[in-house]
Amino acid sequence: MRVPLLDLHEQLKPLRDDILAGITEVLDSTGYIMGPKVEALEAEVAGYCQVKHGIGVTSGTDALLAVLMALGVGPGDLVLTTPYTFVATIGCILRLGAQPLFADIDPVTFNIDPAKMAEALAAPKHAGRIKAILPVHLFGQCADMAAIMGLAEQYGLPVVEDAAQAIGAVYPWREGGGLTWRRAGAMGVAGCFSFFPSKNLGGIGDGGLITVMDSELAARIRVIRVHGGEPKYHHAVLGGNFRLDPIQAVALSVKLPHLPAWHQARRRNAALYHELFSEAGLLVNGIVSLPKAVYQDLAENAGGQIDYHIYNQYVIRVRDRDRLRAFLQENGIGSEIYYPIPMHKQGCVAHLGLNELSLPEAERAAAETLALPIYPELTPQMQKIVVEGIADFFSKE
Ligand SMILES: *Cc1c(COP(=O)(O)O)cnc(C)c1O
Repeated sequence: MRVPLLDLHEQLKPLRDDILAGITEVLDSTGYIMGPKVEALEAEVAGYCQVKHGIGVTSGTDALLAVLMALGVGPGDLVLTTPYTFVATIGCILRLGAQPLFADIDPVTFNIDPAKMAEALAAPKHAGRIKAILPVHLFGQCADMAAIMGLAEQYGLPVVEDAAQAIGAVYPWREGGGLTWRRAGAMGVAGCFSFFPSKNLGGIGDGGLITVMDSELAARIRVIRVHGGEPKYHHAVLGGNFRLDPIQAVALSVKLPHLPAWHQARRRNAALYHELFSEAGLLVNGIVSLPKAVYQDLAENAGGQIDYHIYNQYVIRVRDRDRLRAFLQENGIGSEIYYPIPMHKQGCVAHLGLNELSLPEAERAAAETLALPIYPELTPQMQKIVVEGIADFFSKE
């Protein structure tokens, strides 16, 4: 039996008729740009994420770009961010003529390390140049937002959450002695979401959404979404064509109510992996280390369904990663490397002269990590095949 990294067929089957009905409605309406379907999705996602405003956009990439434009990020500015992310995070900074300022990651969560951020913020050569902080909630687990928001407040900087992989994921927020759970995208000034088909909430093509609390910032982003036109054909500010397609909106509205169950299924799969790897004796001597859900204990003590991790990716660290991956591939087991080259080593930042920059945890993660199939419809039998495949590889070593 083959086990793909991701298979969307099973998810589609029960939703297919409803999605087709929605598409037909859009088709017959002849209203193909924005309109009530996009507005409905915006309200639904804003409600789900516990924010005031949802702004549908073309993609997660454009969500980041539009927010950074609205914040006035431009030439000469620095944006403090993580080197261990998808290129879009960095690309948006560079496209505005600004530069990424990298802080290394926490080796446990793969998210940006607040201690490293504090060093970067305190460095005299960066004083007055940092315009924003852009953490990524990698693989579906929130970055350490209490520490990040504390630094942001200290330095008077806006935080933009790259929540492309983390829709619905919550962070344990302490306030006045109490504990509340806040959703990704509801803590910084804006949250940027992607509906790329492989995300937990995936469209049938590209799409994205921005969550915002502040009404004035939301209004500015809405203007930027339509070429900066306000009123129409008057362009005081520069924007772009960042509009979400209503066909994507109807598909996403059909899927959104299922998202909590899908998150739960991914966590169930993660728990089974834990059992299977442990039974196979692979968790000893550093052969395999499994992802750590750092808010899990708190969530389980609190009781109920709490999305402390939504496992957009299930990423292990493993010895001899590249040979293992090739072996799995030969045996019909899908996996992927997120990400093989950290951002400070990419060609698109070569002109920034970062050759000397050492970010050892990001570099080590890039060399050791492997994403395994985790999608909700994965069966226990398929998970056994994955773990047996890995056990098989190490038994031959
Ligand atoms: C997917 C992703 C994006 C970009 O989203 P698109 O919708 O593909 O443009 C940005 N950042 C991160 C961390 C992502 O995983």
